[in-house]
Amino acid sequence: MNKAVRKAIIAGNWKMNQTQAQTKALIEEMKPLVKDADCGVVLCVPYTDLAAAIEATKGSNIKIGAENCHWANSGAFTGEISAQMLTEMGVEYVIIGHSERRQYFGETDVTVNQRVRAALDAGLTVILCVGETLEQREQGITSELVAMQTKIALGGVSAQEMEKVIIAYEPVWAIGTGKTATAEQANEVNHTIRETIGALYGESVAEKTVVQYGGSMNAGNAEELLAQPDVDGGLIGGASLKAKDFSVIVAAASK
Ligand code: PEP
Repeated sequence: MNKAVRKAIIAGNWKMNQTQAQTKALIEEMKPLVKDADCGVVLCVPYTDLAAAIEATKGSNIKIGAENCHWANSGAFTGEISAQMLTEMGVEYVIIGHSERRQYFGETDVTVNQRVRAALDAGLTVILCVGETLEQREQGITSELVAMQTKIALGGVSAQEMEKVIIAYEPVWAIGTGKTATAEQANEVNHTIRETIGALYGESVAEKTVVQYGGSMNAGNAEELLAQPDVDGGLIGGASLKAKDFSVIVAAASK
């Protein structure tokens, strides 16, 4: 497998943080710090911050994403946002299947697949999250589980559409906990994901697919994680709310 055929992507996940004013200020601080990045830079922000983030990043190398979208184009789904609504306002990326959505909001592999389909149909690039809980890791089912999550989420997605799919391996036990997977653990599961893509779509699609790691990645551990052959960037929660830390991670991915 040849890492040179893929460009790393560092994506922030702000979760339910930042007002519009804070969004503007944080992006202004980040822009000069990441402007020379030799990797993709994406910030996924709350719906209410999207317009401010798009405005603040105009003319920069930072792309904006949402943190979820619904599977229908419109309809009686109070409180939801469709993929088309996002693309119309200039959003380019969307996180789908984050473990916090799965854990707190009833997200299943099937609804993840429906949302992936809707996002791709609307022209968004999907950051698809998969990953095991600590219990599942201890049961020794990480590989099977992550492969299954990946396969179900990608049902009905063509090889060509995979150009707009990024997969983020996020062990649930490492998200927001300060516990990071070791570089070897991250690489091993990312490799399993790439093999799963290879089985579904063939070697050349697998080689080109960006597979990120996410889970307490920070300025101190990013370099080692990102140096792994199957780790093509990161999905960053806490550290994406600190301009300097985020820019250190972007610099590590640019090496
Ligand atoms: C995340 O929210 O996707 C994440 C990886 O969070 P953190 O970096 O804070 O663990």
